[in-house]
Amino acid sequence: MIRPYLTLYLVETMTILNNDFLAATLANQDKMAPFQFEFPSGTGFVEGTGILRLEPKQDASISLVLSVGVHGNETGPIELVNQLVMSILDGRISLSVRLLVLIGNPVAANKATRFCEVNLNRLFSGAWKNYDGFEAKRAQRLEKAISDFYSQAKEGATQTRLHYDLHTAIRGSMHEKFVVYPFVENAIYNQQQLAFLAASGIDAVLLSHQSTTTFSYYSYATHGAHAFTVELGKVQPFGENDLSNFAALEDSLSLLLENGVLAQASMSEMRIFTVLDSLVKDDDSYKLGIEADVKNFTQFEQGYRLAYSEKSEYLVQQTGDAIVFPNTNLPIGQRAGLMVRPVALGDLKLN
Ligand SMILES: [Zn+2]
Repeated sequence: MIRPYLTLYLVETMTILNNDFLAATLANQDKMAPFQFEFPSGTGFVEGTGILRLEPKQDASISLVLSVGVHGNETGPIELVNQLVMSILDGRISLSVRLLVLIGNPVAANKATRFCEVNLNRLFSGAWKNYDGFEAKRAQRLEKAISDFYSQAKEGATQTRLHYDLHTAIRGSMHEKFVVYPFVENAIYNQQQLAFLAASGIDAVLLSHQSTTTFSYYSYATHGAHAFTVELGKVQPFGENDLSNFAALEDSLSLLLENGVLAQASMSEMRIFTVLDSLVKDDDSYKLGIEADVKNFTQFEQGYRLAYSEKSEYLVQQTGDAIVFPNTNLPIGQRAGLMVRPVALGDLKLN
């Protein structure tokens, strides 16, 4: 009489309740025991807290990483990707690519905060070794999840490696949705990826000027992935996001998941910026000469005194130069903003 009961018990625990991976992750922020399960178009592997790998039944030539919640309070993309996962698990989307979903910082998400101790998105490419605590361990675990995922692709098949790290910004933006393109040595940018981003509703592209310790740079530099930090608008609490704002991205991700196809659109409306300088907070007296609610990509006149402290000042070099990610509420030595300059699409080298 015991065995049927036991079997039923095991089957019940080896699923994601209601196919709601987000709820399961938030309810188990410290530990999720690994398990495997079947869904209509493949096999799923919960590999740990917030780490879900979905392998399609059919052979796949694309290995796609979707990471969300690397900043815990950036809930919109978490809800978007959770809905896509639900659609896959309940059979509304038939999966044709390999997929790794990462909910980056569930502990911070439960606290509705950007991070607990250290900004997780500064800890990759081994930078976690310089820190202690939860976020350092998490960065190490997330790197391992990506390494394992890309190396588990079937031998022989050529794999396109993709990683879209989805965020929302602290502040409003003159270009609501934009991506950070990781620094590439040869300054040659991928046309297919840019056209995919255009089709996904991305308004602007920021070309990085140096290597960093962000998650997307890690996947690009260590694994040769096409990888982007994708900013999708302003932070809202769970349940207060209007997911229709992400409709274009949802459509293009659905197409990618279901058909392995990268939607393509004209890049003519997309604005391109290169990064000129990092503004670095060099003293407790460091201030930015802007209103607290200034939008990302706000442009300035040449000579404007944009940042100053008892040790330094920064004057705008050329009219039209703009600021992105201004933030002085951080430790000395960290980035208080990026200075960027528009460039013409025609001036980019594409392949
Ligand atoms: Zn973020």
